[in-house]
Amino acid sequence: MMKLSLLISVVILLLSVFPAQQDKYYRERQLMVKTQLESRGIVHKPTLKAMRSVKRHLLVPRDQEKNAYEDRPLPIGYGQTISQPYMVGYMTEVIRPKKGMKVLEIGTGSGYQAAVLGEIVDEVYTIEIIEQLAKTSRSRLGDMGYTNIHVKEGDGYFGWEEHAPFDAIVVTAASAFIPPPLIEQLKEGGKMVIPVGAPFTTQQLMLVEKQKGGKRTTRNLLPVRFVPFTRN
Ligand code: SAH
Repeated sequence: MMKLSLLISVVILLLSVFPAQQDKYYRERQLMVKTQLESRGIVHKPTLKAMRSVKRHLLVPRDQEKNAYEDRPLPIGYGQTISQPYMVGYMTEVIRPKKGMKVLEIGTGSGYQAAVLGEIVDEVYTIEIIEQLAKTSRSRLGDMGYTNIHVKEGDGYFGWEEHAPFDAIVVTAASAFIPPPLIEQLKEGGKMVIPVGAPFTTQQLMLVEKQKGGKRTTRNLLPVRFVPFTRN
């Protein structure tokens, strides 16, 4: 009996000391951050830290698990994709997230971008138009222990009025124009990142900043390809 309990203690100790033992993708994830993010100029510490820790493989469909840390978007069903890790890192860094902030995301998809934000800011409100994706991501994020991420099924065009204004807004589907309700729900001094352009072509990732007094400035960041922003 003594021996068994000793063995159990040793195993528990090993599991707590070596993260790689309890997480079979630990190394791949550290390598992803190093080779796909840091090497391409992502420097924002909280973003890098969050992406070193969020288990991306738990948010993709089972048959994509082994590809989860690859340098590309992956299919998540319903014609949708989880963005390439670099894109998630870039969009996270550009809004300069920090503790105390409340962020709105449009296009929950897999829930990965929401999880990365959820590691850094106080509250994440995220909206997904496809019912099944909203349900799946809500349940997976819950299983992963995120109590500060709130998933709503609906059309993100209208934002989430009852929790507005937001310190930052991250839109992960390409829209022909910036939905006015989202600008409305951005705090003064807040930042929104959004891919703007026609679907199925190259779009521009844009940074929109709402100045004190409400004046808006926009800046083109880089050409991107996102799935379309759809309307019910
Ligand atoms: N951020 C996601 C990326 C998912 S792809 C991730 O980390 O996995 C973009 C998502 O936006 C898709 O799931 C799509 O269904 C959703 N979407 C498109 N138009 C939308 C709209 N009007 N409101 C809310 N979600 C929308």
